[in-house]
Amino acid sequence: MKNIINKILLTAVMVCAFAAAKAQPVHSFSVKIGIDCESVDSLGGRERVEYLIKDMFRKVNKAFNYDARFKAIYHFEVDWDAFYIYDGISTQEVFKPHPDHDYLVVMDGYKSHPKEQGGGWYGDKIQTVYHARTHNDRFNSPFEPGAIDGIIHEFGHARGIPDIYAMKVDADKNPVNGQPFLGTRCIMDYPYGETFWSDYAVNMINMAGGRNIDIDDVVMKVVPKSIAIKARWADGKVVENAEVKFYPVGWYSYTVSEKPVFDTKIAKKGEVVIPTQKVFSIEKEFGVKYSNCLVEVESEGKKGYAWIPLYYLQNCWFEGKDCCELEVTLKRDIKLTRDI
Ligand SMILES: [Zn+2]
Repeated sequence: MKNIINKILLTAVMVCAFAAAKAQPVHSFSVKIGIDCESVDSLGGRERVEYLIKDMFRKVNKAFNYDARFKAIYHFEVDWDAFYIYDGISTQEVFKPHPDHDYLVVMDGYKSHPKEQGGGWYGDKIQTVYHARTHNDRFNSPFEPGAIDGIIHEFGHARGIPDIYAMKVDADKNPVNGQPFLGTRCIMDYPYGETFWSDYAVNMINMAGGRNIDIDDVVMKVVPKSIAIKARWADGKVVENAEVKFYPVGWYSYTVSEKPVFDTKIAKKGEVVIPTQKVFSIEKEFGVKYSNCLVEVESEGKKGYAWIPLYYLQNCWFEGKDCCELEVTLKRDIKLTRDI
């Protein structure tokens, strides 16, 4: 009897597990690949290159599927009927339309022409990964582990995630308080040897789902309407009457602007709420003008600071908040000597 109950229970668990697995939607994206003939020759011919590409896409698909936080199964599928080898300038291949495929990947192992510059994700109407590696010798290839980590990052862009490293600040480029901003651990921050997607990246991938999207179009749709700055003294008391300044950080500039983009006052209860767009205004190129912002609160000659990187702002939205809250702590002077 016990055996039968166990069997029934086991069957029930298996049915549930199967149903749960089945409930995961599968999002497939077709990929067309072109590779330059020099790379094919030096890598050992077409068959070898096809083997390497298959292995590469096994790793790409794995990166988008190992994490339980993803709400779908992602599949980037190479169309071998469309695979082609070209003899020409790679940067011209990048801009070729590919109406029958979601993505085009142009692989260039040997930048052999001066016009072959750059590399990475080409968004907007292009939707192409230019997978170019700069080589000093013939031992490197577009299929080395670092190169594969790089293409996983590019497919992160393809799924709507901006560069997290573009929100960072170098200490020597921060004239306001001299502090760096280090970002957050993520494949979209630094991909090499990294297998971790930040919560922000997972949120963006889940939001994009199976849609064909462009980063610039989605970024401002997922920010809360307002930002609340709450200022406290280190002892927990609210800060009354403070000046609040917002110093913006431009994309990929790693620099805090010397001039605030917006300023306001805290007049009561240690809090001020501003519309998000006073700082993070809409702009065509990246969807939003700034990638980060340093907030300065000043009261009684003392200053306190907080960062608002775009990923923090957007994570507030993903948490269902209409207003993104930041706490700023101000410290009064601490007396280090004691009068006897
Ligand atoms: Zn990137």
